[in-house]
Amino acid sequence: LGRQGLHHGTDRGDPGLEVGLRGTHRERRLRFVEAFGANERIAIIDGAMVAADVRKSVAAATSALKAKHGAVPELAVLLVGEDPASQVYVRSKVKQTEEAGMRSHHLTLPADASQEEVVAKVRALSADKNVDGILVQLPLPKHIDEQVVLAALDPDKDVDGLTEASAGRLLLGKPGLRPCTPVGSVILAKRARAELAGAHCVVVGRSILVGKPAALLFLAENCTVTLAHSRTKDLPGLCRSADILVAAIGRPEMIKGDWVKPGGIVIDVGINRVPAATAGKTKLVGDVAYAEAAEVAGAITPVPG
Ligand code: NAP
Repeated sequence: LGRQGLHHGTDRGDPGLEVGLRGTHRERRLRFVEAFGANERIAIIDGAMVAADVRKSVAAATSALKAKHGAVPELAVLLVGEDPASQVYVRSKVKQTEEAGMRSHHLTLPADASQEEVVAKVRALSADKNVDGILVQLPLPKHIDEQVVLAALDPDKDVDGLTEASAGRLLLGKPGLRPCTPVGSVILAKRARAELAGAHCVVVGRSILVGKPAALLFLAENCTVTLAHSRTKDLPGLCRSADILVAAIGRPEMIKGDWVKPGGIVIDVGINRVPAATAGKTKLVGDVAYAEAAEVAGAITPVPG
């Protein structure tokens, strides 16, 4: 078992790889050790373990802030409507906030709240001196323009990094709040390769939420970055040149094993629900064909994982 959220294995085609992806996090870790033994050839980047480390360091920083300045940060989470998936996300955010030692302020508005009401709530939270961070849970109901709501957010409280000011600060290389999924991609890549400078990073996908900010964040790490998308020519060849390949496409298992550079790092951001082998069941897969990519990569993130 490797340190810092990496599991090392020996046999890329070993059925243990399959076995290792089932069960709880702890069970998976143990099974990987059994399946792969001590020789190290591939590394499975363990997102759950890395996330636990990040939470621990956030909790330590929060506690240090309290000890030094008597300040406890407060995060406001605004949910409009009753979308079940959004409710699950919000509950998890509230729980994680409290576990990190911060105060959580959970607000809900009904699904038929007007755009003006939502904007007024975001303005009030932006002006509230007790609130340090604001999360507006997306998507908002269809009759509300998300951009108008985000424009009402104080960029200094924009913990999702979604405002134009936050995007501008990222582009300009100024301090600011960054979107979490792209930041997570950089953190995961660093677990596999401490020094990213000089690496060729190919990001597939140019969305505002993931691909574009990921490209800028890897650039800030002094990678040489190529941003690919649906009109990119010879995508397999381009991906094969990547020391770090970030897949943020939203197409199940599109990136095949022979698109991966031998020994390269693969960060699979994709989350796609597809039919499972058992009729009527579904499963989650990434944008990368995991089993075949793991045969070639030096380090890879499983999905889910
Ligand atoms: P999105 O807004 O749909 O963007 C997809 C991007 O992929 C677009 O830039 C598109 O190119 C590109 N693309 C589509 N088909 C392609 C193809 N055949 N070849 C090359 N590029 C192609 O998706 P997103 O919001 O960025 O999300 C991407 C994936 O990440 C999804 O699976 C999503 O569920 C997942 N996700 C995960 C997290 C997480 O925390 N793990 C967070 C957010 C999203 P064009 O611009 O040319 O159309």
